[in-house]
Amino acid sequence: MAESAPPPSALVLGGGFAGIAASVALAGLGVRVTLLERRTMLGGRASSFVDAVTGLTQDACQHCTLGCCTHLAALLEKLGVHQHVKCQDTIAFLDALGRRWDLRGTRAPAPFHAARSFVAMPYLGLTEKAATARALLSLLVRPATESDYEATLGAWLRRHGTPERAIEAFIGPVVASACNETVDDVALGFAHKVLRDGFLAARTAFHLGIADRPMGDLLTEPVGAFLAARGSALVAGCTVRQMCRGSGVGWRAEAVDGRCFEAGRLILAVPFDQAARICAGLGESGRSLAATWEGLHWSPITGVHLWYDRPVECPPALALPGSASQWLFSKPPSFGRMPDEAGYLTAAISADRCMAALPGSDIAALVAEDARQALPSIRDARLCRRRVVKERKATFAAMPGAEQLRPRQRTPIPGLYLAGDWTRTGWPSTMEGATRSGNVAASELLADLGLRRPAMPPDLAADWPAQALMGVGKLLAAVAYLGSGSRST
Ligand SMILES: Cc1cc2nc3c(=O)[nH]c(=O)nc-3n(C[C@H](O)[C@H](O)[C@H](O)COP(=O)(O)OP(=O)(O)OC[C@H]3O[C@@H](n4cnc5c(N)ncnc54)[C@H](O)[C@@H]3O)c2cc1C
Repeated sequence: MAESAPPPSALVLGGGFAGIAASVALAGLGVRVTLLERRTMLGGRASSFVDAVTGLTQDACQHCTLGCCTHLAALLEKLGVHQHVKCQDTIAFLDALGRRWDLRGTRAPAPFHAARSFVAMPYLGLTEKAATARALLSLLVRPATESDYEATLGAWLRRHGTPERAIEAFIGPVVASACNETVDDVALGFAHKVLRDGFLAARTAFHLGIADRPMGDLLTEPVGAFLAARGSALVAGCTVRQMCRGSGVGWRAEAVDGRCFEAGRLILAVPFDQAARICAGLGESGRSLAATWEGLHWSPITGVHLWYDRPVECPPALALPGSASQWLFSKPPSFGRMPDEAGYLTAAISADRCMAALPGSDIAALVAEDARQALPSIRDARLCRRRVVKERKATFAAMPGAEQLRPRQRTPIPGLYLAGDWTRTGWPSTMEGATRSGNVAASELLADLGLRRPAMPPDLAADWPAQALMGVGKLLAAVAYLGSGSRST
C-alpha cells in the first residue's frame, strides 16, 4: 500500500498573540505546527509571571480589549476561553474635581448611540460639546488616507476646532490607552482607526473586555491542548538562538539548550528588534529584509499593582483624566492575593516617558495617592503590597512615519513569514493587531502550500447611519479628487 505524504509542517517562533493565532489557524487546517516560546507561559507582552515572593501568578500589566476586536474574540472562542473576558458596556471617568461621567451607549445606532451620555458629560460646556461632536463626526466621515500616517492627531483636532478641554478630558485618555502615544505624538492614521472603529462606527464597538484571570493562565494550557489534539506541539521554555535553512527546502531552529527543530515553513512571530536579529543571521537576504523596518522604535507602558487590606469599591475600569495614573482597574477575587489582601487595584500608564523614567517607588506613591483621592473606600485602607512593572518595550511607537516601515506578513524569502503587532495590519500595537497578523501570516502560508485559506473573522459591521456617513465621505473625497485631477490636466 502506498504511504500517504506527511502533512505540511511549520515552525512558529514566539508564543504571543501573533504566534498563537498563526499556530491555531494552521493546526486547525492540518498543518503540523511546532510553536516555540521562550517563556513557560504564553501571551508574550500580554502575559503573566509568577511572583517570586508570593508564588502567585499575576499579569505584568492590565490588558483590555474592545468590542471591535473581532479576531481576538474569535481566537479566544476557538480556544474555549472567551467566557473569561468580561464585557463592560460603560466606561467610567472621574476628573480631579471628583466629577464622575459614565460613557454608556443606548439602543440608538452609531454614531448616535452615545449621544445621550455625551450630552450629560460634566467636563465640557454646550459649545465645547458641539465643537467636539463636529470634530468627531468629521473624523468618522473622512476616509483614511496614506498621508494620515505622516500627520498627528493633535494637529488635525485643533485644525477642526476641537476644544483643548475635550482633548484632555476624553479624547486624550482614550487615544493614549489604545495607541500608547499622546494626541500630539500619535499619527492621525492610527488614532483615526481606533476612534472610528472603536467608538464611532458601531454601537457595541467601545465595550471594554477585561479578563477575569491572569492572561498566562487563560492561554497556556488551552493553546497546548488545542495544538496537541491536532498533532501539533507547544514547546514552552525554549529560547531559539538562531534560525537557518534546514535540510532540503525547510527551516531549522536551534535552541540555546541545543535542541533543534525542523519544518517546511517558518513564521517569525517575535518583536521587531528580535526579528531583525534573527533575520540578520540568515545572510544578505535576511539583512535587507530587516532593513525595511529599521526605524521602528518602542514606547513604554508602566503597570502599577496595589493590594489593600480591604475591598476596593471601584468600577472595573475607571479613567482618571489629568492624573498621573490615567486609568485604574479593580481586580476581581479570581486574581490570587495574599490572605491579608482584600482589595487589588492596578493602573496602566501609557505614553508617558517621563513617568516611566521615575523610580518605581515614586510611581507607586503617585498612583496610590490618585487612588486615595478618587476612591473613598480606600481613604483609610492599609496598602499591604505594591509592585511596579516597567515595560520599556511595550508597543511600537505609533508616530508619524511608523506605518510605512511595517512589513507585510509574506516576505520575499521563500517559506519565511512575519507576524507580530508591528507588522502591517492597519491596527496600532495591540492584541487585536497581533492576532490579525498571525491570521494573515497563516493564510499566506496556506496559500503558498496550495491549501485553502482560513475564513477570516468578519469586522464588526458599522451601524447604518455610520455606514451612510462614511459613504458620503467617500463620495465627497472622490469628487474632490476628480476635481483636483481635472484642474491639474
Ligand atoms: C504594559 C502593556 C500594556 C498593554 N496594554 C494593552 C491593552 O490594554 N490592549 C491591547 O490590545 N494591547 C495592549 N498592549 C499591547 C499588546 O500586549 C501587544 O501588542 C501584543 O501582546 C503583542 O503580541 P505579539 O504576539 O505581536 O508579540 P509578543 O507578545 O511580544 O510575543 C512575542 C513572543 O516571542 C517570544 N520570543 C521572543 N524571542 C524569542 C526567542 N528567541 N525564542 C523563543 N521565543 C521568543 C517572547 O517571549 C514572546 O512571548 C500592551 C502592552 C504592554 C507591554
